[in-house]
Amino acid sequence: MHEMSIVQALLEQVQSEVERAGHPGRVVALHLVIGRLSGVHVDAIRFGFDVLSSDSIAAGAALYIECPKARCHCAACGGEREIDEIVIGCPDCGSAAITIRGGQELLLQSIELEE
Ligand SMILES: [Zn+2]
Repeated sequence: MHEMSIVQALLEQVQSEVERAGHPGRVVALHLVIGRLSGVHVDAIRFGFDVLSSDSIAAGAALYIECPKARCHCAACGGEREIDEIVIGCPDCGSAAITIRGGQELLLQSIELEE
């Protein structure tokens, strides 16, 4: 499963960030940002995290996931809309002269450590 390797990479990133911070405490929570257009299934990430985190530095940590929408800007009508799925034309005028921004992020935003 694709998401399993994402979670694996995430846990490695958490491990190295915590080591770099030189913090001895437990990881309390992780905040992720997974854009709506990233193609990543949040449920699968949660499942993968439950399975893989149990013997990692993030064992027992809460997982907070934010799923930002993308914005679609149309050069033909000047419209700008929030979208939560991929579009091939402007939702307003149907023009293909659109630029889609955001919504594809997949990142570890922050790590909360025990005081
Ligand atoms: Zn348009």
